[in-house]
Amino acid sequence: RVVVGTKVDQHHVNWVTAYNMLTGIRFVVSRTNAKLDRDLTEADFGAKHKFSFDITGNELTPSAKYDFKFKDYAPWVFRHLRASFGLDPADYLVSLTSKYILSELGSPGKSGSFFYFSRDYKYIIKTIHHAEHKFLRKVLRDYYDHVTQNPNTLLSQFYGLHRVKMPLGRKIHFVVMNNLFPPNRDIHRTFDLKGSTLGRDFKEEDLEKNPRATLKDLNWLRRNLHLEFGPTKKEAFVVQMQKDVALLQRLNIMDYSLLVGIHDLERGNEENLRDKTLSVFQPGGAVGTEPEMGALTRTPSKMEASKRAKELREMVKKERPKPIGQDLDQMADVRKGQYFYADDGGFCATHEDNRAGEEIYYLGIIDCLTRYGFAKKVEHMWKGWGGKASQISPIPPQRYGDRFVRFISGVTKSRERAEQEKLSTSLE
Ligand code: ATP
Ligand code: CA
Ligand code: CA
Repeated sequence: RVVVGTKVDQHHVNWVTAYNMLTGIRFVVSRTNAKLDRDLTEADFGAKHKFSFDITGNELTPSAKYDFKFKDYAPWVFRHLRASFGLDPADYLVSLTSKYILSELGSPGKSGSFFYFSRDYKYIIKTIHHAEHKFLRKVLRDYYDHVTQNPNTLLSQFYGLHRVKMPLGRKIHFVVMNNLFPPNRDIHRTFDLKGSTLGRDFKEEDLEKNPRATLKDLNWLRRNLHLEFGPTKKEAFVVQMQKDVALLQRLNIMDYSLLVGIHDLERGNEENLRDKTLSVFQPGGAVGTEPEMGALTRTPSKMEASKRAKELREMVKKERPKPIGQDLDQMADVRKGQYFYADDGGFCATHEDNRAGEEIYYLGIIDCLTRYGFAKKVEHMWKGWGGKASQISPIPPQRYGDRFVRFISGVTKSRERAEQEKLSTSLE
């Protein structure tokens, strides 16, 4: 995982795209937020609105730096979704638009999607394929019903669905969603787990070159790792995962994974301090210097920079982990939808007796817009000759989900329980 990513400034190849995405979001979100809240109607789920931006502006849209077209999908549904995920409308706008700075994670997956983090690292913009876009619109009602009935869902939280098109350019569809990882804590290890073994190995030799790489199922098994939850948390976690996966199965979705970020409380945040301080000194001064629009390439003066670095060090000192999770009864109200994100944005490990453990897990089910469609079926048939069927990744959604749940629940156990099981198998 890259903490800061590549800063998207005026010299970045995707600057205009990113700028237009944010300008469009600012416009459509404020437009919807300005209206009095109301109940959703059936038509809201299929709604789409198209806007043209240009340098002069018109009666509908304000002037913008570049010419582009912007399409907003189901704005009322997403307004309600943001509210049900507990987002503050003003904060959302500030995070995504106030300073026009994103960082780009390039294209970490094989799909060709691009990822952009909002400046404060709370949100991710992911570009998606047209097929994924069409599919999300098709299942939006089911998704909406599910997340409103399951406030503690582990599924990706979608906050907006939009499309941007530059003159001469192609149409770019994108979603805004939650960043599972916190801005203020180091993630010492990241895993992307599917419950499959085929091709699910990150070359251990490459870890030296890329210590923050996202590891996979085989790396997890090789390290004999567990999601260390005592019985109370395990039960809550597995039950919610089953409900979420049941929806994905019903909607014929596959290829999703459980993204797991592990923060080791003992190691704390030392590395994060370094990263943040470094980024302040980046030429262009984008991170942490609060430049205004049009002043993005400003380099902070030496004095400003050292003052800011000192502030940051103080800030990080104050952010030293507090003792958390000692008392499960004090956990955030389960109904408020913060159960799995209650421990400083994550879910603290527990021992068999519910005492707080040594790690914080940042967890969620991601990449859940791949429908088991024609392409996957072909791949399945093709790969089906030869390999062992159960190890093939593109298997039908029902089996994919069952295998996913089996794998994840199987590796969810407290340290004590894992030891005990090891002992009893060695005695057999
Ligand atoms: P592919 O289809 O090849 O798997 P993709 O482009 O659809 O790739 P994802 O699987 O959604 O990409 O995500 C790729 C990586 O990006 C993840 O393994 C994770 O490291 C990071 N990532 C994705 N979503 C999130 C999120 N919500 N929070 C934090 N990190 C994320
Ligand atoms: Ca994926
Ligand atoms: Ca994908």
